[in-house]
Amino acid sequence: PHLIGVLAVQGAYAAHQRVLEGMGAATRTVRQSHELQGLDALVLPGGESSTLLHFLQQDGFWPALAHFAAHRPCLGTCAGLILLAQTVQPAQPSLGLLDVTVQRNAYGRQRESRIRHAPSVLPGAPLEMVFIRAPRIVHCGPAVQVLAYSDSDPVLVRQGHTIGCTFHPELSGDTRIHQLLLDACEPRG
Ligand code: GLN
Repeated sequence: PHLIGVLAVQGAYAAHQRVLEGMGAATRTVRQSHELQGLDALVLPGGESSTLLHFLQQDGFWPALAHFAAHRPCLGTCAGLILLAQTVQPAQPSLGLLDVTVQRNAYGRQRESRIRHAPSVLPGAPLEMVFIRAPRIVHCGPAVQVLAYSDSDPVLVRQGHTIGCTFHPELSGDTRIHQLLLDACEPRG
C-alpha cells in the first residue's frame, strides 16, 4: 500500500490517519523532517496555521517540507491549505505550492463553523463540507483547477500534485478528497 505521512505537530491529524487507513493506505505521523523520507504523499491537516508555522520553522523542517512538497503529492486542509498557499492574508510565511491567495478566518463569527453541501466535479453526491474557522480563497492563479465551489468561493483546488481544501474532509464519512491524494501517488512497484 501507499505510505502517507500526516503532519502531526498540532491539529486534526488523527482523523486523517483513520480515514486513510480505512482506505487501505499505511500512515506515519510526521513530527521531524527525517520522517518525510520514503513517504508517497503527505497530509497537512487543519489546526492553527500560525501555531503549525511556529513548529515547522524549527530544526530545518521548513526547507525539508518545501522540498518534499515540490516533489510529492500533498493535501492541505484548512490550516494546511494556508501553509501551501502562495499568499496569505494577513501576511505570514507559506510554501507557495498552490497559486492561491487565502484570507484566514475570513467568514466572521456567525459563519465561523458550519456544515454545507455543494456540488463538485468529483463523481457522486454533493460534497459534505465541514468548515471550522475556515480560510477563504480570494484569488486563484491560472494554473489552479477549482474542483468545488461553495456559494461562489472556491473551496477545493488543485495544482498538479498539490491539493487543498478550506474544509475538513476527515470529519465527513466521504473519502473522495483523500482518494484524490492517493490517486496522485506514483504506483507502488
Ligand atoms: N483558523 C485557522 C487558521 O487560520 C484554520 C482553521 C482550521 O484549520 N480549521 O490557521
